[in-house]
Amino acid sequence: SIPLGFFGGIGGASRLGILIKGGNYLEALAAAEVVVFDKTGTLTKGTFKVTEIHPVGISDSDLFELTAHAESYSNHPISQSLKNAFKSEIDNSRIKGVEEIPGYGVKAVVDEKTIYAGNSKLMDKIGAVYSQNKTVGTVVHVTISGIYSGYIVISDEIKEDSASAITRLKAFGINKTVLLTGDAKDVGESVGETLGLDEVYTELLPADKVNKVEKLIAEKSPKGNLIFAGDGINDAPVLSRADVGIAMGGLGSDAAIEAADVVIMNDEPSKIATAIAISKKTLRIVN
Ligand code: ADP
Ligand code: MG
Repeated sequence: SIPLGFFGGIGGASRLGILIKGGNYLEALAAAEVVVFDKTGTLTKGTFKVTEIHPVGISDSDLFELTAHAESYSNHPISQSLKNAFKSEIDNSRIKGVEEIPGYGVKAVVDEKTIYAGNSKLMDKIGAVYSQNKTVGTVVHVTISGIYSGYIVISDEIKEDSASAITRLKAFGINKTVLLTGDAKDVGESVGETLGLDEVYTELLPADKVNKVEKLIAEKSPKGNLIFAGDGINDAPVLSRADVGIAMGGLGSDAAIEAADVVIMNDEPSKIATAIAISKKTLRIVN
């Protein structure tokens, strides 16, 4: 049976937009020792702005138009951002055979041309030869009918609320905050440095994130718990593997909300600290 005080804790949290799916998770939150974050949509806004277009053998506008069409079916924040940055209407009749390649990018047929759009790992996977200047931001490389056609640089911002999330967690004595991201090394490390995270791991595929979380679970003390917070896009497996999986409910997919133990409705990462504070307080009252 659930101690009566737990209902108060869960109710109080829900009034702040934090849905805790059971008394066991409230208890588990109180023993938080390591807090692991996904980057995109969790610590950053997930709304990328286009900062550079570097076409190869094609015009800027054609590269952008074909990429926006190829990306338009995916609900990944990068795809949504590119689609929104494309000011004209997407013509769905030009698009066929859309395929999501988690951790890499997308594949689609647009105007009968096969398009791949994604990171350098995707280019390596399909054997495309690409070149890239030193840029600050997330790079989306594009091939059209097997020909390397350039790249688009996009850039995301850290959420205003992220800094206080980390400060508050540290104030509770959480001395291991970790960032796991599929994004490039320079992008991930810059976020980690700005926010003062203890560890940063970059260029991870969804399966690498699970392996990393398992390793962090093995390293922590037996009484402590590992909390993972993500937007659920490509990270549903990690959400279920963590002792407590927290999903951002606003941006997150239905699958993430399903896989999560705790859902933060307004996507503010500082609510993670609030949830832990409520759990600690509730357990003090209950015990
Ligand atoms: P994260 O949430 O940690 O940034 P993801 O696994 O969602 O990681 O994506 C990792 C990387 O894979 C992205 O940074 C991007 O380079 C590439 N990628 C994933 N999905 C897409 C997409 N739809 N379009 C372009 N690139 C993508
Ligand atoms: Mg993600």
